[in-house]
Amino acid sequence: MNRKMKQLFLKKGKEESLLRFHPWVFSGAVHHTEGDIAEGDTVRVLTATGDFIAVGHYQQGSITVRVLSFSDTTIDDAFWAERLQQAFNARRAMGLTDNSLTTAYRLVHGEGDMLPGLIIDIYGQTAVMQAHSIGMHRSRHQIARQLVAVMQGRIAHVYYKSETTLPFMEPENGFIIGGSDENIALENGLRFYVDWQRGQKTGFFVDQRDNRSLLEHYAHQRRVLNMFCYTGGFSFYAMRGGAQLVHSVDSSAKAIELTRRNVELNFPGDPRHKAFCEDAFKYLDGIDGYDLIILDPPAFAKHRGALHNALKGYTRLNAKAFEKIAPGGILFTFSCSQVVTKDHFRNAVFTAAAQARRSVRILHQLHQPADHPINIYHPEGEYLKGLVVYVD
Ligand code: SAH
Repeated sequence: MNRKMKQLFLKKGKEESLLRFHPWVFSGAVHHTEGDIAEGDTVRVLTATGDFIAVGHYQQGSITVRVLSFSDTTIDDAFWAERLQQAFNARRAMGLTDNSLTTAYRLVHGEGDMLPGLIIDIYGQTAVMQAHSIGMHRSRHQIARQLVAVMQGRIAHVYYKSETTLPFMEPENGFIIGGSDENIALENGLRFYVDWQRGQKTGFFVDQRDNRSLLEHYAHQRRVLNMFCYTGGFSFYAMRGGAQLVHSVDSSAKAIELTRRNVELNFPGDPRHKAFCEDAFKYLDGIDGYDLIILDPPAFAKHRGALHNALKGYTRLNAKAFEKIAPGGILFTFSCSQVVTKDHFRNAVFTAAAQARRSVRILHQLHQPADHPINIYHPEGEYLKGLVVYVD
């Protein structure tokens, strides 16, 4: 036990979820803290009677402690090295760490890797690190050093990008180890320009890799609409899969610019691709003749209170696609809202199909890939869900 560590006492009986290894302490469970605890400090969590429960990062807010360990351990270099090594070992088992065709993958997925508040995506020789908690922010240099050691020469640069996730801390985006302009990464042999400086998330949506691969197999001779394309991920797989034409749509001009750039990287001068900067709902009103449509919108519900409206949004969006898709068409439709469950989403798509009076069969039920693992004690970690449906 670490006697220097500050302590937090739970209310009577509030240790139950922690005894089941759920990694969060909510503010309502806290009885009192000992001494002055600063934002991001590491604290020992104790029951009302003083029994040890967990060690974690303290932060004022509805999640007061993010648990790092259920053992009474010190959070030092050796701790970070061990956790990062465990994350690395899992990615090695997935065949991602030494893969000449795929150099973009997620190495650390927060709670899924027992590192709540931390995201690390690998893009070739560069790791992009994002903190979602003050504790992780304060530990960034320590973590970055251990990361380079654990990766054993596979990465040389660590870019820190928490401007959008911790706006109140005003952390500057930038390299904290090394520095490189080489930002082309590979996914299943396709090349992507990753804008880790200004792009969304860590610069690329690594989580659709497997679903993009599946789409490639359905693209032959089809007229494809990639709605909410961002950097164009699905579009290049469709082109490689032999699509007749591919139209990429996003409301962000920056996204369309990235998509055009990525098309040029992979299929220079290919006349099959066109990109449009437009609002999805408006664009879908005017379409005709597509027989493979991808709908991968941003999270419509960022919290539970927004669930009802979000489901209405998913229904409205999917109904538009069902109204317009050609007979024999295939729809890849997704939700990345964490509060929208698989059943909620399926029900929204069901309602949309019924509204459009189409005959619809589910071919695949999709989810996040293995490098975005779900901690079995933290089911909230399941966020990405998708359906592939065949429309007669
Ligand atoms: N499918 C992408 C990720 C999509 S992220 C991939 O595989 O990488 C969601 C995208 O939706 C963002 O790029 C955002 O700019 C875009 N977006 C948000 N609202 C939109 C709207 N109303 N119409 C069109 N695009 C929108």
